[in-house]
Amino acid sequence: MSDADTQQKILLGISSCLIGEKVRFDGGHKQNRYILDTLGNYFSFRPFCPEMAIGLGVPRETIRLVSIDGHAEAVGNKNAHLNYTQPLVEIAEQQQDWHRQIFGYIVKKDSPSCGMERVRVYHNDQPQRNGVGLYTETLMRNFPTLPIEEEGRLGDPVLRESFIKRVFIYRRWHDMLAEGLDWASLTDFHARHKLILYSHNQDLGRKLGRELSAAHQQPIEDYAPRYLADLMTILQIYAKRSNHVNVLEHIRGYLKQDLDKSDKQELTDSIENYRRGLLPLIVPITLLRHHFRRNPDTYIDRSYYMQPHPDELMLLNSL
Ligand code: SF4
Repeated sequence: MSDADTQQKILLGISSCLIGEKVRFDGGHKQNRYILDTLGNYFSFRPFCPEMAIGLGVPRETIRLVSIDGHAEAVGNKNAHLNYTQPLVEIAEQQQDWHRQIFGYIVKKDSPSCGMERVRVYHNDQPQRNGVGLYTETLMRNFPTLPIEEEGRLGDPVLRESFIKRVFIYRRWHDMLAEGLDWASLTDFHARHKLILYSHNQDLGRKLGRELSAAHQQPIEDYAPRYLADLMTILQIYAKRSNHVNVLEHIRGYLKQDLDKSDKQELTDSIENYRRGLLPLIVPITLLRHHFRRNPDTYIDRSYYMQPHPDELMLLNSL
C-alpha cells in the first residue's frame, strides 16, 4: 500500500486483537478477515489494546466486570482484590488526542475493557449481560457521536451498513468543519443527507430540518454540535424496508415527466420486488441511477442516499 492510499483511507480505531496482534490474555488474537480484507481497502486502522496499555502483560489473568455498590468495576477473575477500573478509565482519557482524529471505532465484543454492549457484569457470581467495557464506556462518554461498532455485529448486514454509512457521514461532517462551517454549508450538508435520514425515520428527519431552519438566530457554533448529536441519533434507528420504499418512491417522482410507460413499469416492479424482499436495495437504486444519468436532477444527483458508500463494499447488496 502506498502512502497516498493510506492518506485517502478513513482512519478507524480498533481493538488490537481484531487485526491479529497477539495481545489477548492467552497470547492469542481474534483476527477478523472481513475487517482486514474488505474494510481494509477503504479504512486504515489505529490499533489499541487497553489492557496491554495499563501494563498487563501476556499471558495475564483474565478480568471481569463485577457490580460493586451499583457500579461495574473491572477486577481479576481469580484475584478479585486486583481492581483495574481506574487504570482502564484513565488510559481511555489519555487517548483523547488520537480519538479526536478517527472517524469510527471497531471494538471486540464481550470484553470487560472493549465491549460496547451486553458485556457480562457479575452480581454475586451471577452474570447479567448489561455491561459496557470500561475503556469503550469512557470513549463513548467523551465522543458520543463517534460511530462505534462491535466486530460481532458487523456480521449483520443492516448493522454493518449502518455503521459504515455513519463513518462516511462523520467523515464528511469533519471535512465540512475543516472547510469552514457556516449556515450555507450546514444547510447543504442536511439537504444531501435528508433522504438517508428519511430512510431511518421520516418524522425525525423532517423535525431536524425544521430545527435547522429555525436555528439561524443563534451562533452556529452552539447549534452545530446539537445538530450532529440529533443526526447520529436518527441514523442509529433501524432503517426499515418500508422506509426505503417510501424514499425510493419519492425519488421516482422526480422522473415522472421523463420516463416512458415501460421504463416506469420496470422501476415500479423493481421497487415492489424490493418491498417484497425478492430483490436487494442495490437493484432499484442502480435502476434509478441509470435513469438519472440520462435525466439529471441536481438535488437527487447530490443526495448521498444514491451513493452512501463505495459500491465495491457491496453493502446495499445485502439489504
Ligand atoms: S483488551 Fe481489548 S484489544 Fe486487548 S485483547 Fe482484550 S479485547 Fe482485545
